[in-house]
Amino acid sequence: MPELPEIEIVKQSLYKNIKFKKIKKIIVKNRNLRFKLASNFKNILNNKKIVNISRFSKYIIINLENSYFCIFHLGMSGTIHIVKKNNKNLITNVSFYNSPLIPKKHNHIEFFFNNLKVIYNDPRRFGFFKIFSSQRKLFNYFNRYGPEPFDKKFNINYLKKKLKGKSKNIKNYLLDQKFVSGIGNIYANEILFFCKINPSLESKKLSLENYKKLIYYSKYILISAIKKGGSTIKNFTNTNGKLGSFQKNFNVYQRENLKCLIKNCCGIIKKKKISNRSTFYCNMCQK
Ligand SMILES: [Zn+2]
Repeated sequence: MPELPEIEIVKQSLYKNIKFKKIKKIIVKNRNLRFKLASNFKNILNNKKIVNISRFSKYIIINLENSYFCIFHLGMSGTIHIVKKNNKNLITNVSFYNSPLIPKKHNHIEFFFNNLKVIYNDPRRFGFFKIFSSQRKLFNYFNRYGPEPFDKKFNINYLKKKLKGKSKNIKNYLLDQKFVSGIGNIYANEILFFCKINPSLESKKLSLENYKKLIYYSKYILISAIKKGGSTIKNFTNTNGKLGSFQKNFNVYQRENLKCLIKNCCGIIKKKKISNRSTFYCNMCQK
């Protein structure tokens, strides 16, 4: 599943390629995504200039010149491809987890610009697009979400207020988008490893030191992933699609039974299910 760092990379690619450009044509091949595509989707976007592209949590936000907003979410398997007119053979996937070789039958929407087209591909169709006619409506939609780790609101007082006396484990809190936005399963595992906090720990047992670490490493892990993802993107256009190096950068995620990477730690990475999500942790430094 695409996580926040990947979405940030997708945003940066779109920003670079289509900001201030006009959508010349849209081809919708399949409206049946997670939510059915709005019937006025083409009308609202066609022939409009894109004035900004931003991101909140795992959403990309496209701001149109007519003050409408189009947002999209990649769901489980969505990818964005940029195909340039004069450079058809390059790998087009702007994401960094998924294979660049995705069957064309899953190309559901195509946006045409002067010298390129942007394709939305999604084999499992859990992704979706939504349209908002004003910024207020857009903000209302995002109201249900907690702050991102980068937000100043994600501070010690906030953690105290939300976690004090709560018996729900900390891993579930990190995955709870109402508490903090944009942390998925991979990075929840990585963040707790860096914090040396056991994922099953009841949130009420966290210390002030734990709060500080959670705030620091939530930012640190996501920013490092964005930086690595950016370099992966740069590389994979000239390495013929040799992907997968990004996954090797994880410290606990999918490293079951391997040695802990912390120097002088003799722990082993263990795997268990917490609320049905795969959870990886070191049996020594995350006791
Ligand atoms: Zn360890």
